[in-house]
Amino acid sequence: MDIAAYIEKHFKIDAKITNLVLEREREVQPCFARYEDIAQVCQLKVLEAFKKNEVSGRHFYPSTGYGYGDEGRDRLYRVFADVFGAEQAIVSPMLMSGTHALSTALCGALRPGDTVLFVTGKPYDTLHATLEGAGSLAEMGVDMRFVPLKENGSMDIERAREELLAGDVTMVYIQRSTGYDIRRAFTMDEISGTIATLKAEFADKIYMVDNCYGEFTDYTEPTQCGANIIAGSLIKNPGGGLAPTGGYIAGDSAIIERVENRFSAPGIGREIGSYAYGYQQFYQGLFMAPHVVLQAIKGVILASAVFEKLGYKTMPHYGDIRGDITQTILFGAEEPLTAFVRGVQRASAVDGHVVPYAWDMPGYSDKVIMAAGTFVQGASIELSADAPIREPYCAYMQGALTYEHAKLGIIYALDEMGII
Ligand SMILES: *Cc1c(COP(=O)(O)O)cnc(C)c1O
Repeated sequence: MDIAAYIEKHFKIDAKITNLVLEREREVQPCFARYEDIAQVCQLKVLEAFKKNEVSGRHFYPSTGYGYGDEGRDRLYRVFADVFGAEQAIVSPMLMSGTHALSTALCGALRPGDTVLFVTGKPYDTLHATLEGAGSLAEMGVDMRFVPLKENGSMDIERAREELLAGDVTMVYIQRSTGYDIRRAFTMDEISGTIATLKAEFADKIYMVDNCYGEFTDYTEPTQCGANIIAGSLIKNPGGGLAPTGGYIAGDSAIIERVENRFSAPGIGREIGSYAYGYQQFYQGLFMAPHVVLQAIKGVILASAVFEKLGYKTMPHYGDIRGDITQTILFGAEEPLTAFVRGVQRASAVDGHVVPYAWDMPGYSDKVIMAAGTFVQGASIELSADAPIREPYCAYMQGALTYEHAKLGIIYALDEMGII
């Protein structure tokens, strides 16, 4: 059937827009193959972890109070640990965001006098307060050193090596995803390469990876490639769009045992913690996650291809190997950028009728505009886009529970931008 004509007739979007998107879709089809293979392998990893741990209906039951002997919680730890190839994991609705999971991991793993070497430059914006300020690592007596990325956006392993030779480093920290920087995400090849190179000489360090947005975008995870600890958010990839909140931390037993005392309280660790809502959505979300991540990746590959065709710079290019689910599009001016974000909002099932405006968000130095009509508030595994209003007017787009929805996001955005 002529979908473009159908959409024009019934939904008043110019057939030229839909046809442009469908044409690009045919061209990028070969780029999907890699991620279809990855989703297949990751689905198997998840399935085998469920089977190995004999997940049953009783693990979905709610618990209350202290949650002593909460089987659903404990089994979820085991399943996550196995999926990520880690010895232990903490997975919890009490980890309230990715930042909370990362901050808990850092503050738990490190001790006064320790030094962290950040080898992917300054970490994600929301972590800056974990590094400096009240209750921060700096206040705890932890030292921090930063290795900036090289001009071409890759990690400066030589500089990192020099810093490690200079001594005193306890932890090496890698951020997998782009964040609000203008750089591409690191692929698992790059991450495992960096860790292998540095570990060969400096085996006693803790290698930590901020795994946000990276889960299931590749065949392996950092903890399967030498990382000692990773952390991430459940309203991104590993929650599969179903987890209502939460975060995870996974890694070596010795480190997780320190982190769990920070997560709850010393001596209590992971022995307690209840959830009166039950854990089904966490299990089912993890089960869905490889497929949902594939939907999101196909969506941003298409977006990248469409906007490149229209003359905008995109990062990564549609054919590049991806290390996360995010897509940067450089609009170069305020108006196409805000129109794009309005279009994505228009494609939302929740709050699709509202118009987003740029506003002064707490914690950001420039005005920010966001399209976030999501079922789970703020979930960026769902179709979403955000943009700081500043040069070079980049939009960061990510997520989609279904590829069809991602495609509609692009079509609405083009319509809103008045492209045709
Ligand atoms: C999303 C994200 C985080 C954590 O952010 P929250 O909004 O607190 O979940 C940390 N690092 C990176 C690179 C991220 O993308």
